Amino acid sequence: MNLAAQISIMNERHKRESELFGMSVGAANNKLRKQIMFDLAKRLNLHFCYRCGHEIVHVDQFSVEHMNAWRIASDPVVAFFDLNNIAFSHLRCNSAAARRSPQKKYADAKERKRVQFQRYYKKNGRAWNDRRIARRKELKDLKERNSNGLE
Ligand SMILES: [Zn+2]
Repeated sequence: MNLAAQISIMNERHKRESELFGMSVGAANNKLRKQIMFDLAKRLNLHFCYRCGHEIVHVDQFSVEHMNAWRIASDPVVAFFDLNNIAFSHLRCNSAAARRSPQKKYADAKERKRVQFQRYYKKNGRAWNDRRIARRKELKDLKERNSNGLE
């Protein structure tokens, strides 16, 4: 089979699959990877927004972002792939940060609080998460004890 015929078959298959997914196969792959990442983040209890600190409930609100803008880094490629520069956030929190004007440090008081929290989270994220997990477990135990007491 010649190359042109092979390409034609591949294009045909690609077209069929794109119609099946209702999006390009590349977009479907990205969507799957994002779902896997979100699922793993939840299992590791890392599904909390780096910007506002709240839980990311649905994969549609889940975004991966660079804490320090890679485009203006001294080495953009290194900054882009640096896993220590990666955080999870709500899509809306991520977009809001991207819209913020470069002159203004914070858009408003809410934004300032959010940024201060994210600075705190960067340093103490693990301890903060551990406390949250402990608090949740405490509440669960308390609830169980209360429901047992009623019997
Ligand atoms: Zn958020």
